[in-house]
Amino acid sequence: LTFLGIESSCDDTAAAIVTGDRRILASVVTGQAALHEDFGGVVPEIAARAHAERLDYAVEQALADAGVSLRQLSGVAVTAGPGLIGGVMAGVMCAKGIAAGAGLPLVGVNHLAGHALTPRLTDGVDFPYLMLLVSGGHCQFLRVDGPEGFTRLGGTIDDAPGEAFDKLAKLLALPQPGGPSVEAEARHGDPGRFELPRPLLDRPGCDMSFSGLKTAALRQRDQLIAQQGGLRQQDRADLCAAFQNAVAEVLAEKSRRALARSPAPLLAVAGGVAANGTIRAALEHVAAQAGARFLAPPLRLCTDNGAMIAWAGIERFRLGHRDGMDLAARPRWPLDDRAAPMLGGGK
Ligand code: ATP
Ligand code: FE
Repeated sequence: LTFLGIESSCDDTAAAIVTGDRRILASVVTGQAALHEDFGGVVPEIAARAHAERLDYAVEQALADAGVSLRQLSGVAVTAGPGLIGGVMAGVMCAKGIAAGAGLPLVGVNHLAGHALTPRLTDGVDFPYLMLLVSGGHCQFLRVDGPEGFTRLGGTIDDAPGEAFDKLAKLLALPQPGGPSVEAEARHGDPGRFELPRPLLDRPGCDMSFSGLKTAALRQRDQLIAQQGGLRQQDRADLCAAFQNAVAEVLAEKSRRALARSPAPLLAVAGGVAANGTIRAALEHVAAQAGARFLAPPLRLCTDNGAMIAWAGIERFRLGHRDGMDLAARPRWPLDDRAAPMLGGGK
Protein backbone atom coordinates (compact mmCIF):
# COMPACT_ATOMS: atom_id res chain seq x y z
CA LEU A 1 0.00 0.00 0.00
CA THR A 2 1.13 3.54 -0.74
CA PHE A 3 -0.94 6.47 0.46
CA LEU A 4 -0.89 10.19 -0.07
CA GLY A 5 -1.86 12.08 3.11
CA ILE A 6 -3.08 15.66 3.13
CA GLU A 7 -3.30 17.90 6.21
CA SER A 8 -4.58 21.49 6.36
CA SER A 9 -6.66 21.75 9.54
CA CYS A 10 -4.68 24.51 11.26
CA ASP A 11 -1.71 26.55 10.06
CA ASP A 12 0.47 23.88 8.43
CA THR A 13 -0.05 22.86 4.81
CA ALA A 14 1.25 19.31 4.63
CA ALA A 15 1.40 16.38 2.23
CA ALA A 16 3.20 13.06 2.63
CA ILE A 17 3.64 9.66 1.01
CA VAL A 18 3.61 6.67 3.37
CA THR A 19 3.63 2.93 2.73
CA GLY A 20 1.73 0.14 4.45
CA ASP A 21 5.01 -1.18 5.86
CA ARG A 22 5.54 2.11 7.72
CA ARG A 23 7.98 3.84 5.43
CA ILE A 24 7.66 7.61 5.08
CA LEU A 25 8.75 8.19 1.49
CA ALA A 26 8.20 11.94 1.67
CA SER A 27 6.80 14.49 4.10
CA VAL A 28 6.34 18.12 3.13
CA VAL A 29 5.22 20.63 5.78
CA THR A 30 4.83 24.32 4.99
CA GLY A 31 4.14 26.49 8.02
CA GLN A 32 2.28 29.77 7.91
CA ALA A 33 3.69 31.41 11.04
CA ALA A 34 4.89 34.49 9.14
CA LEU A 35 1.42 35.10 7.67
CA HIS A 36 -0.22 35.21 11.09
CA GLU A 37 2.45 36.75 13.32
CA ASP A 38 1.10 40.31 13.12
CA PHE A 39 -2.28 39.13 14.40
CA GLY A 40 -1.21 37.27 17.55
CA GLY A 41 -2.91 34.04 16.44
CA VAL A 42 -4.00 32.03 13.42
CA VAL A 43 -6.48 34.00 11.28
CA PRO A 44 -8.84 31.38 9.79
CA GLU A 45 -9.52 33.28 6.57
CA ILE A 46 -5.83 33.85 5.86
CA ALA A 47 -5.05 30.22 6.72
CA ALA A 48 -7.73 28.89 4.36
CA ARG A 49 -6.51 31.03 1.49
CA ALA A 50 -2.89 30.00 2.04
CA HIS A 51 -3.85 26.30 2.15
CA ALA A 52 -5.83 26.65 -1.08
CA GLU A 53 -2.83 28.29 -2.75
CA ARG A 54 -0.22 25.85 -1.45
CA LEU A 55 -1.81 22.42 -1.32
CA ASP A 56 -1.19 21.54 -4.97
CA TYR A 57 2.49 22.41 -4.60
CA ALA A 58 2.82 20.45 -1.37
CA VAL A 59 1.31 17.36 -3.03
CA GLU A 60 3.45 17.77 -6.14
CA GLN A 61 6.56 18.16 -3.99
CA ALA A 62 5.72 15.10 -1.88
CA LEU A 63 5.22 12.95 -4.99
CA ALA A 64 8.49 14.23 -6.45
CA ASP A 65 10.43 13.67 -3.20
CA ALA A 66 9.06 10.14 -2.96
CA GLY A 67 9.64 9.44 -6.66
CA VAL A 68 6.09 8.15 -6.88
CA SER A 69 3.49 8.91 -9.53
CA LEU A 70 -0.24 9.28 -8.88
CA ARG A 71 -0.94 5.97 -10.59
CA GLN A 72 1.38 4.18 -8.15
CA LEU A 73 -0.71 5.31 -5.18
CA SER A 74 -3.25 3.04 -3.49
CA GLY A 75 -5.32 5.85 -2.04
CA VAL A 76 -5.63 9.41 -0.81
CA ALA A 77 -6.18 10.21 2.87
CA VAL A 78 -7.20 13.65 4.04
CA THR A 79 -7.98 15.37 7.33
CA ALA A 80 -11.76 15.85 7.27
CA GLY A 81 -11.87 17.47 10.73
CA PRO A 82 -11.72 18.70 13.40
CA GLY A 83 -10.12 22.05 12.64
CA LEU A 84 -10.55 25.45 11.05
CA ILE A 85 -13.27 24.76 8.53
CA GLY A 86 -11.88 26.78 5.60
CA GLY A 87 -8.56 24.97 5.73
CA VAL A 88 -10.15 21.56 6.16
CA MET A 89 -12.40 22.27 3.15
CA ALA A 90 -9.41 23.24 1.03
CA GLY A 91 -7.72 19.93 1.90
CA VAL A 92 -10.83 17.84 1.31
CA MET A 93 -11.45 19.47 -2.08
CA CYS A 94 -7.84 18.94 -3.09
CA ALA A 95 -8.03 15.26 -2.07
CA LYS A 96 -11.32 14.72 -3.89
CA GLY A 97 -9.87 16.22 -7.06
CA ILE A 98 -6.88 13.92 -6.96
CA ALA A 99 -8.93 10.84 -6.04
CA ALA A 100 -11.48 11.48 -8.79
CA GLY A 101 -8.90 12.44 -11.38
CA ALA A 102 -6.61 9.48 -10.73
CA GLY A 103 -9.38 6.99 -9.91
CA LEU A 104 -8.08 6.41 -6.37
CA PRO A 105 -9.95 5.51 -3.18
CA LEU A 106 -10.55 8.44 -0.83
CA VAL A 107 -10.33 8.08 2.96
CA GLY A 108 -11.38 10.86 5.37
CA VAL A 109 -9.30 10.93 8.53
CA ASN A 110 -9.84 12.49 11.95
CA HIS A 111 -6.90 14.79 12.69
CA LEU A 112 -6.73 13.60 16.30
CA ALA A 113 -6.69 9.97 15.17
CA GLY A 114 -3.69 10.94 13.04
CA HIS A 115 -1.82 12.13 16.15
CA ALA A 116 -3.04 9.20 18.22
CA LEU A 117 -1.92 6.52 15.73
CA THR A 118 1.53 8.04 15.15
CA PRO A 119 3.31 5.63 17.55
CA ARG A 120 2.14 2.80 15.26
CA LEU A 121 3.76 4.51 12.29
CA THR A 122 7.02 5.43 14.00
CA ASP A 123 7.53 2.40 16.24
CA GLY A 124 4.99 -0.18 15.11
CA VAL A 125 3.56 -0.44 18.63
CA ASP A 126 0.63 -2.74 19.36
CA PHE A 127 -2.70 -1.84 20.92
CA PRO A 128 -3.61 -0.95 23.58
CA TYR A 129 -1.69 2.12 24.67
CA LEU A 130 -2.32 5.40 26.39
CA MET A 131 -1.82 8.61 24.46
CA LEU A 132 -1.36 12.08 25.89
CA LEU A 133 -1.95 14.62 23.18
CA VAL A 134 -0.50 18.01 24.21
CA SER A 135 -0.28 20.76 21.62
CA GLY A 136 -1.21 24.36 21.06
CA GLY A 137 -4.85 23.48 20.52
CA HIS A 138 -5.36 20.16 22.28
CA CYS A 139 -4.79 18.42 25.57
CA GLN A 140 -6.35 15.05 26.24
CA PHE A 141 -5.74 11.51 27.38
CA LEU A 142 -6.82 8.83 24.96
CA ARG A 143 -6.89 5.12 25.49
CA VAL A 144 -6.19 3.59 22.08
CA ASP A 145 -7.53 0.05 21.61
CA GLY A 146 -7.60 -0.07 17.82
CA PRO A 147 -7.46 2.13 14.70
CA GLU A 148 -10.92 3.32 15.67
CA GLY A 149 -11.00 2.36 19.30
CA PHE A 150 -10.48 5.64 21.14
CA THR A 151 -11.68 6.38 24.64
CA ARG A 152 -11.17 9.86 26.02
CA LEU A 153 -10.15 9.63 29.67
CA GLY A 154 -10.02 13.37 30.29
CA GLY A 155 -8.61 16.59 29.01
CA THR A 156 -8.26 20.29 29.57
CA ILE A 157 -11.38 22.20 30.48
CA ASP A 158 -9.93 25.48 29.21
CA ASP A 159 -6.56 26.28 27.56
CA ALA A 160 -4.22 23.73 26.04
CA PRO A 161 -0.70 23.78 27.56
CA GLY A 162 0.92 25.03 24.34
CA GLU A 163 -1.50 27.93 24.28
CA ALA A 164 -0.64 28.63 27.94
CA PHE A 165 3.10 28.63 27.13
CA ASP A 166 2.41 31.01 24.24
CA LYS A 167 0.40 33.36 26.45
CA LEU A 168 3.05 33.34 29.18
CA ALA A 169 5.68 34.26 26.58
CA LYS A 170 3.49 37.12 25.47
CA LEU A 171 3.14 38.36 29.09
CA LEU A 172 6.91 38.31 29.47
CA ALA A 173 7.64 39.77 26.03
CA LEU A 174 9.43 36.61 24.91
CA PRO A 175 9.38 35.48 21.25
CA GLN A 176 6.64 33.24 19.83
CA PRO A 177 6.05 30.31 19.75
CA GLY A 178 6.21 30.55 23.51
CA GLY A 179 7.07 26.94 24.37
CA PRO A 180 10.67 26.95 23.20
CA SER A 181 11.41 30.46 24.54
CA VAL A 182 9.90 29.69 27.95
CA GLU A 183 11.91 26.46 28.11
CA ALA A 184 15.11 28.32 27.21
CA GLU A 185 14.49 30.98 29.91
CA ALA A 186 13.58 28.32 32.48
CA ARG A 187 17.01 26.75 32.10
CA HIS A 188 18.58 29.46 34.23
CA GLY A 189 15.58 30.00 36.48
CA ASP A 190 14.76 28.95 40.02
CA PRO A 191 11.42 27.10 39.97
CA GLY A 192 11.02 27.58 43.74
CA ARG A 193 10.96 31.38 43.87
CA PHE A 194 7.35 31.88 42.75
CA GLU A 195 4.45 29.82 43.95
CA LEU A 196 2.03 28.93 41.18
CA PRO A 197 -1.13 26.82 41.58
CA ARG A 198 -1.59 23.21 40.45
CA PRO A 199 -5.11 23.55 39.02
CA LEU A 200 -7.54 20.62 39.44
CA LEU A 201 -4.97 18.40 41.17
CA ASP A 202 -7.25 18.35 44.19
CA ARG A 203 -10.04 16.87 42.11
CA PRO A 204 -10.19 13.22 41.07
CA GLY A 205 -10.02 12.21 37.42
CA CYS A 206 -7.94 13.17 34.43
CA ASP A 207 -9.37 16.58 33.59
CA MET A 208 -6.93 19.48 33.59
CA SER A 209 -6.98 23.27 33.58
CA PHE A 210 -4.23 25.68 32.56
CA SER A 211 -5.81 29.11 32.30
CA GLY A 212 -5.54 29.75 36.06
CA LEU A 213 -1.80 29.16 35.90
CA LYS A 214 -1.44 31.89 33.35
CA THR A 215 -3.55 34.29 35.45
CA ALA A 216 -1.38 33.53 38.50
CA ALA A 217 1.76 34.22 36.47
CA LEU A 218 0.24 37.50 35.30
CA ARG A 219 -0.41 38.51 38.91
CA GLN A 220 3.19 37.73 39.90
CA ARG A 221 4.45 39.71 36.94
CA ASP A 222 2.33 42.75 37.77
CA GLN A 223 3.41 42.62 41.40
CA LEU A 224 7.06 42.65 40.34
CA ILE A 225 6.46 45.54 37.96
CA ALA A 226 4.69 47.50 40.69
CA GLN A 227 7.51 46.83 43.16
CA GLN A 228 10.51 47.30 40.89
CA GLY A 229 9.17 49.30 37.99
CA GLY A 230 9.96 46.49 35.54
CA LEU A 231 11.04 42.90 35.05
CA ARG A 232 14.63 41.77 35.47
CA GLN A 233 16.16 39.01 33.39
CA GLN A 234 16.20 36.74 36.44
CA ASP A 235 12.50 37.41 37.19
CA ARG A 236 11.59 36.16 33.74
CA ALA A 237 13.71 33.07 34.10
CA ASP A 238 12.27 32.27 37.55
CA LEU A 239 8.68 32.76 36.40
CA CYS A 240 9.27 30.54 33.34
CA ALA A 241 10.84 27.83 35.50
CA ALA A 242 7.94 27.93 37.98
CA PHE A 243 5.40 27.82 35.17
CA GLN A 244 7.07 24.96 33.33
CA ASN A 245 7.34 22.96 36.54
CA ALA A 246 3.68 23.52 37.33
CA VAL A 247 2.60 22.32 33.86
CA ALA A 248 4.93 19.32 34.07
CA GLU A 249 3.63 18.39 37.51
CA VAL A 250 -0.02 18.59 36.47
CA LEU A 251 0.58 16.55 33.30
CA ALA A 252 2.60 13.97 35.25
CA GLU A 253 0.07 13.55 38.05
CA LYS A 254 -2.84 13.28 35.62
CA SER A 255 -0.86 10.75 33.55
CA ARG A 256 -0.30 8.72 36.70
CA ARG A 257 -4.04 8.69 37.30
CA ALA A 258 -4.79 7.81 33.67
CA LEU A 259 -2.40 4.85 33.86
CA ALA A 260 -3.90 3.74 37.16
CA ARG A 261 -7.44 3.94 35.82
CA SER A 262 -6.67 2.33 32.51
CA PRO A 263 -3.44 0.32 32.73
CA ALA A 264 -1.50 0.01 29.48
CA PRO A 265 1.99 -1.21 28.59
CA LEU A 266 2.84 2.09 26.89
CA LEU A 267 2.42 5.81 27.50
CA ALA A 268 2.93 7.83 24.31
CA VAL A 269 2.86 11.58 23.76
CA ALA A 270 2.22 13.69 20.70
CA GLY A 271 1.85 17.41 20.05
CA GLY A 272 4.34 20.27 20.08
CA VAL A 273 4.52 20.46 23.88
CA ALA A 274 6.05 16.97 23.87
CA ALA A 275 9.24 18.76 22.79
CA ASN A 276 9.67 20.12 26.32
CA GLY A 277 12.49 18.33 28.12
CA THR A 278 11.17 18.87 31.65
CA ILE A 279 7.72 17.62 30.69
CA ARG A 280 9.15 14.62 28.87
CA ALA A 281 11.29 13.67 31.85
CA ALA A 282 8.31 13.95 34.22
CA LEU A 283 6.16 11.73 31.99
CA GLU A 284 8.92 9.22 31.53
CA HIS A 285 9.27 8.93 35.29
CA VAL A 286 5.52 8.37 35.74
CA ALA A 287 5.48 5.71 33.04
CA ALA A 288 8.42 3.88 34.61
CA GLN A 289 6.69 3.91 38.00
CA ALA A 290 3.60 2.36 36.43
CA GLY A 291 5.72 -0.27 34.68
CA ALA A 292 4.92 1.20 31.26
CA ARG A 293 7.16 2.08 28.35
CA PHE A 294 7.35 5.74 27.38
CA LEU A 295 7.39 6.84 23.77
CA ALA A 296 7.72 10.28 22.22
CA PRO A 297 7.87 10.17 18.42
CA PRO A 298 10.35 12.49 16.69
CA LEU A 299 9.18 16.09 16.95
CA ARG A 300 8.44 16.55 13.25
CA LEU A 301 5.91 13.70 13.60
CA CYS A 302 4.58 15.02 16.94
CA THR A 303 3.45 18.30 15.38
CA ASP A 304 1.02 18.57 12.48
CA ASN A 305 2.16 16.67 9.39
CA GLY A 306 0.81 14.71 6.43
CA ALA A 307 2.51 11.42 7.27
CA MET A 308 0.27 10.79 10.27
CA ILE A 309 -2.78 11.42 8.07
CA ALA A 310 -1.54 9.06 5.36
CA TRP A 311 -0.89 6.42 8.03
CA ALA A 312 -4.29 6.86 9.73
CA GLY A 313 -5.80 6.59 6.24
CA ILE A 314 -3.99 3.30 5.68
CA GLU A 315 -5.27 1.96 9.00
CA ARG A 316 -8.85 2.96 8.11
CA PHE A 317 -8.48 1.62 4.58
CA ARG A 318 -7.41 -1.74 6.00
CA LEU A 319 -10.63 -1.83 7.99
CA GLY A 320 -12.53 -1.37 4.73
CA HIS A 321 -13.28 2.33 4.91
CA ARG A 322 -13.79 4.25 1.66
CA ASP A 323 -15.31 7.67 1.38
CA GLY A 324 -17.15 9.10 -1.59
CA MET A 325 -17.42 12.53 -3.12
CA ASP A 326 -19.92 13.28 -0.35
CA LEU A 327 -17.10 13.38 2.23
CA ALA A 328 -17.62 16.61 4.18
CA ALA A 329 -15.27 18.86 6.10
CA ARG A 330 -16.28 19.15 9.74
CA PRO A 331 -15.09 21.73 12.28
CA ARG A 332 -15.90 19.30 15.11
CA TRP A 333 -15.50 15.56 14.92
CA PRO A 334 -15.37 13.70 18.24
CA LEU A 335 -12.94 10.79 18.11
CA ASP A 336 -15.52 8.30 19.30
CA ASP A 337 -17.64 9.04 16.22
CA ARG A 338 -16.26 6.46 13.79
CA ALA A 339 -18.02 7.46 10.60
CA ALA A 340 -16.41 10.04 8.37
CA PRO A 341 -18.52 13.18 8.00
CA MET A 342 -20.83 13.28 4.98
CA LEU A 343 -22.27 16.21 3.08
CA GLY A 344 -25.85 16.87 4.06
CA GLY A 345 -25.30 14.92 7.27
CA GLY A 346 -25.94 17.97 9.44
CA LYS A 347 -23.53 19.79 11.77
P1 ATP B 1 -2.85 21.40 16.92
O1 ATP B 1 -3.90 21.87 15.98
O2 ATP B 1 -2.50 19.98 16.74
O3 ATP B 1 -3.14 21.75 18.35
P2 ATP B 1 -0.75 23.37 17.02
O4 ATP B 1 -0.08 24.01 15.84
O5 ATP B 1 -1.55 24.23 17.89
O6 ATP B 1 -1.55 22.15 16.45
P3 ATP B 1 1.66 21.93 17.59
O7 ATP B 1 2.23 22.36 16.28
O8 ATP B 1 1.52 20.49 17.85
O9 ATP B 1 0.28 22.64 17.92
O10 ATP B 1 2.53 22.56 18.76
C1 ATP B 1 2.72 23.94 18.89
C2 ATP B 1 2.65 24.28 20.37
O11 ATP B 1 3.68 23.58 21.07
C3 ATP B 1 2.87 25.75 20.61
O12 ATP B 1 1.88 26.23 21.48
C4 ATP B 1 4.26 25.81 21.24
O13 ATP B 1 4.42 26.86 22.16
C5 ATP B 1 4.33 24.47 21.94
N1 ATP B 1 5.73 24.05 22.13
C6 ATP B 1 6.67 23.87 21.19
N2 ATP B 1 7.86 23.59 21.74
C7 ATP B 1 7.67 23.60 23.09
C8 ATP B 1 8.52 23.41 24.21
N3 ATP B 1 9.81 23.15 24.09
N4 ATP B 1 7.95 23.48 25.45
C9 ATP B 1 6.64 23.74 25.59
N5 ATP B 1 5.80 23.96 24.57
C10 ATP B 1 6.30 23.88 23.33
FE1 FE C 1 -2.51 18.70 15.46
